[in-house]
Amino acid sequence: MSSLSKKIAIIGGGPSGLYTAEILSRNGYQVELFDQKSSVGRKFLVAGRGGLNITHSEPMELFAQRYFSTSIDFMEERWKLALRLFSPLDLKKWVESFGIETYIGSSRRVYPEGDSAAKLLLAWVERLKNQGVIFSLKHRWKSFEKKETGWSLLMDSEAGERSLIFDAVVFAMGGGSWPETGSDGGWIDSFLNKGIAVTPLVSANCGWEVAWETWFLEKFEGKAIKGVEVWSDSSPERRRGDLIVTRYGLEGGPIYALTRTLREEKEPRMWIDLKPDLSKEELEKRYRIQRGFLKDIEKSWNLNSLSKGLLLRSNPDRNLDTFLDRVKRLSIELKGARALQEAISSAGGVRGEGLNEVGMICQYPGLFCVGEMLDWEAPTGGYLLQGCFSGAAVTAGGVDRYLSRD
Ligand SMILES: Cc1cc2nc3c(=O)[nH]c(=O)nc-3n(C[C@H](O)[C@H](O)[C@H](O)COP(=O)(O)OP(=O)(O)OC[C@H]3O[C@@H](n4cnc5c(N)ncnc54)[C@H](O)[C@@H]3O)c2cc1C
Repeated sequence: MSSLSKKIAIIGGGPSGLYTAEILSRNGYQVELFDQKSSVGRKFLVAGRGGLNITHSEPMELFAQRYFSTSIDFMEERWKLALRLFSPLDLKKWVESFGIETYIGSSRRVYPEGDSAAKLLLAWVERLKNQGVIFSLKHRWKSFEKKETGWSLLMDSEAGERSLIFDAVVFAMGGGSWPETGSDGGWIDSFLNKGIAVTPLVSANCGWEVAWETWFLEKFEGKAIKGVEVWSDSSPERRRGDLIVTRYGLEGGPIYALTRTLREEKEPRMWIDLKPDLSKEELEKRYRIQRGFLKDIEKSWNLNSLSKGLLLRSNPDRNLDTFLDRVKRLSIELKGARALQEAISSAGGVRGEGLNEVGMICQYPGLFCVGEMLDWEAPTGGYLLQGCFSGAAVTAGGVDRYLSRD
């Protein structure tokens, strides 16, 4: 049987499913892509709202270290191979293949010019249609069964329940954050019923709750603490960036990056250095007594009112020594992570132990998994999308080899 006559179903039209479809349709397979929503790439569009951070430009040696998993099989070596097969440079060139330039922004993050996720998605879907991919939308996958002729998939559609046969199936149904985009984690029960091991989905890259005092919120809700360094007891590596005070707590890149380890802390707490560029000694040297303690520290240390507010809520004693300590090491008690629905991404998913090196479910040869529905997580910075694309390249190669095995 030639590849032209082999049929592949891809369940899920996020970046992982779309890129798997792109490779396999280019290789001559008949690809049908299903999504439960009426359009594909909804989370990709949401990701584009604040600027689509498609990948990162840091050296490759560091890149593979950004991925974490509770399953042994998704460790660094696996990521190194995936990133070699489809590298950050390949992803940049892929964006440029649509006539969209890319640029490196702050913290070496890579973005498409114009930050237009919509333009990119439109051109991408057009490319897939031209390559023969069939889009079957408003189809919710429910179950699978092995038949003599291939894998039978049970779907709910507007026309009622449908049962369709394919030679191979790639599941790319995403994690559990922002369920309104279609990634609702509804697939988990069906997977568990089939004996596939899944780690429960939890928030990753999310805001954290803080019990702010009323006076503090009235003054500072919506304000940013800029250029601070944060760390936690379980993750002493410092992360620099901006934090935003919200009604319920804190949001922002540096605290998202701590989520993975904060989740494990019984009484989660974050430390902040409000003046990371000045040592304690330097701050002491700069301190001048002039107009009263609070005015003096504000002027001597160039503190904004939010930083001052944070220092005061933690310790109202106006004493130079305690303030010096706290400017460099301010503790913030965290009440808990924000709900999964609000998180940028989720951790948990299909466990690596039950999959082979290309994402095929060992107990069901011919069924593959890819993307955020797998048990891996990564910080913000373009690592999530890069992980989806590199993973899709690996899995598409695996599907190709599986279907060519005769
Ligand atoms: C606010 C926000 C900002 C983000 N910003 C960035 C960023 O700047 N950079 C970055 O790298 N990442 C970012 N991300 C993360 C990134 O968007 C995701 O990691 C990525 O979309 C995951 O791709 P995926 O294809 O694996 O799954 P998804 O994009 O979640 O797609 C899964 C698809 O599967 C479909 N589906 C689910 N269940 C079924 C079913 N039973 N039947 C049929 N279809 C089903 C869904 O409808 C959905 O279309 C952001 C995410 C959010 C929420």
